Amino acid sequence: MLAGGARKYTAAKRSECGTDMEVTDSELFLRAALVIDQAAQGLVDSRGREDWMTLLQALAQLSAAQAQDGDPAPLFAPEPLREKCAELDPRDKLYWLTEEDSSRKKFSKAWDALKEVVPRLEANFLQRSQKARVAARLELFDIQKDLDKRAKLYGFRAIPIELPEDIGPQQREVVIAEERRNSSNADIEYLEEMEVYPIPGVRRALRINLEGWRSIFMLTPLLLALVGGGFAIWLLIQFWMSQLPMRTIFQWTVLIAMVGGMVTWWVWPLYRLIDQKIVMAPAILQMTSRFYHVLVIRREGEKKVVRMLRFAATCPLCGGEVEVQEGRRTLRGRYVGACGRNPVEHVFSFDHVLRTGLRVVQ
Ligand SMILES: [Zn+2]
Repeated sequence: MLAGGARKYTAAKRSECGTDMEVTDSELFLRAALVIDQAAQGLVDSRGREDWMTLLQALAQLSAAQAQDGDPAPLFAPEPLREKCAELDPRDKLYWLTEEDSSRKKFSKAWDALKEVVPRLEANFLQRSQKARVAARLELFDIQKDLDKRAKLYGFRAIPIELPEDIGPQQREVVIAEERRNSSNADIEYLEEMEVYPIPGVRRALRINLEGWRSIFMLTPLLLALVGGGFAIWLLIQFWMSQLPMRTIFQWTVLIAMVGGMVTWWVWPLYRLIDQKIVMAPAILQMTSRFYHVLVIRREGEKKVVRMLRFAATCPLCGGEVEVQEGRRTLRGRYVGACGRNPVEHVFSFDHVLRTGLRVVQ
């Protein structure tokens, strides 16, 4: 029922809205859909099932099946999708399938959540596609069937991507890193996600350009702090050399120490970021998310930028989710991947450039 229903709309609708169908064939679409299916399964395994994951997986599996039948751009009505969701998520079967509004609401909520989450998984999908040598990644796509708002169709749109061999000379470094990674005997490989809107109320991803003169934005606070520190020390010496009563000297000392401590607390992460190219994201940027994020300085094409990212992997020992955090005890000063199930024993080193790690036995 779903195959017939869905296929009818596809060609007509795509041409109506001017979508370029030539970018992909059904074979490529099939392989790209399988990548998404795998990614969705990974998310379910590591984070526990949520409705948007179920919907993502349903969409991927249905798209894969359609593509296998030769449809290069499948789209689906909500009904077959909800059926597939019920099949993937038997515990919630009843809620996916009732004919009442609640079920439609569950579906549209899941779709909205999916649209919100997917941009931050893009890097993850891209890396998976590149690893599987699939020259396309899929993006969510929906379209109104008629004027009726309820009659929407859902699916993916294929975006061609460049696989490492096809890319230009300026990205050769990335290829080298990629090759080294593939040939290394890493215990664990990290996938990257991006926090899309880290600043509450600002719907923009964090991307600070550091090219050329713009780097003064990063250096100015440090220089100011340094000058301020020098001034504070000079001031302290003046107080202690003066004839003022001891109580006054003591009060000023405490005040200067407190202000100095606060400034250091603000500036220290910035210093570490510049010095080590990576730092845990300050709490203020992590407020909108329950995951650990890092700030990294890296090259993107020709530009040097600061990015807020989350690196995660699946624990090879127990299948739990490994997240990057600050190292403790003997690993102090480093960043490590710690497993959510056993953050003390399942610990891996973390290299944000190669995105790999080795198990650390302490
Ligand atoms: Zn583990």
